[in-house]
Amino acid sequence: MSFWNIDISITFVRTLLFLIGALIICSTQVVAGGATTVVFRYDDYSSGTPANLEVELLNIFTKHHIPLTISVIPYACAVNCEDVAPQALLPLTPAKANVLHQATNDGLVDIALHGYSHQNNNPHKYTEFEGVNYKVQYARMEAGKRFLEQLIGVPITKFVPPWNTYDSNTLAALDALGFVCISAGPAGPVSLTSPLKYLPQTCDIADLKRTIKSAVFFAEKDKIIIVVFHRYDFVEADRERGRLTLSQFEELLDWVTSQPNINVRTLEQALKEVAGLGPDRFVEYSSYRKLVATIPPRFRPSISGAYLSPSNYMKIVGWMLAIAFHLSLLITSCVLLLLGNVMLVAKSRAGALAVRWALLSLLIVVLFRGCYGFTMSADSIYMVTCLTGASAGSWMANYVRGKRIGT
Ligand SMILES: [Zn+2]
Repeated sequence: MSFWNIDISITFVRTLLFLIGALIICSTQVVAGGATTVVFRYDDYSSGTPANLEVELLNIFTKHHIPLTISVIPYACAVNCEDVAPQALLPLTPAKANVLHQATNDGLVDIALHGYSHQNNNPHKYTEFEGVNYKVQYARMEAGKRFLEQLIGVPITKFVPPWNTYDSNTLAALDALGFVCISAGPAGPVSLTSPLKYLPQTCDIADLKRTIKSAVFFAEKDKIIIVVFHRYDFVEADRERGRLTLSQFEELLDWVTSQPNINVRTLEQALKEVAGLGPDRFVEYSSYRKLVATIPPRFRPSISGAYLSPSNYMKIVGWMLAIAFHLSLLITSCVLLLLGNVMLVAKSRAGALAVRWALLSLLIVVLFRGCYGFTMSADSIYMVTCLTGASAGSWMANYVRGKRIGT
């Protein structure tokens, strides 16, 4: 093929090597840094969760003097919390409340409100609060807060929305009820006028070691790792979904506390000790997470599992990684389709035409789906990059082939 000479090959290989090199260097770049706060958040404590496992868990945290935040459901569903159909509710029993009362008295545990019943209200998306009107949200929170305060005997001022989903009415109701903190997912609505603090979940127990190992090397201030876990993470409670046994979890806690510059705290303690937990940091962090979500996990900056205000350096690295990855993908798919289509044109012009239009149509469909849904998943973004490169390559093939025939 006369159009593809040795100079073009060398330039292409050099560009690709540069982009791959940039990806590897940027994704492993580290700077020695300060202390990291780790918060363990155990979700779903209720009348429906296994009391024996939870008592054992509390014993482990107490034995090692490690603080813990427990998110409690005041009135758990009796049947299935994912089912939107009306069902009986199980109020937190005095026995389970007493376990929490003892634990809070010891000073190692603090309590957050985890919804009202944790029952899904939407057949298309798991949520208890999102999309529900203000009055209903306020009434559920108010009833749940009052019930737990009376039963456990501690003030309830932190809120963990079930499935980490909520909306602006949730924030307004939290404000009106005197809550000081919401701990949900890494993205969500924000109120810029409210004094509410944000302490989002950043990782689960499977990612904890990797996240801590990378976080201790970064110089950013006030790094926080909020690790969320549930009963089903333990083999003793769920043989299929369980990731580790209680004794393996105990070893993990030992490892965490043996790491330098790691302070384990409850949500309450983190709120008191760490500055700048207002909406600004949450907005910056959410944007940064959205940016790095467009890069495959292998190439993501390892700091992405910690909650912090991303520095300019981190943002630049994030953008460089995203650009390098997508440019590599774009160039590779473009060249592959360019070569493939040039060969195809020689055999079947109709076939080459069909490939060209099929790729373009597929690109339009993927873009339309993304725009229609208002959000693009990481997989959709990879696909758009590949299809754009492939479409460009297949159209260029026609030009290259035509030019060659003409000469
Ligand atoms: Zn939950």
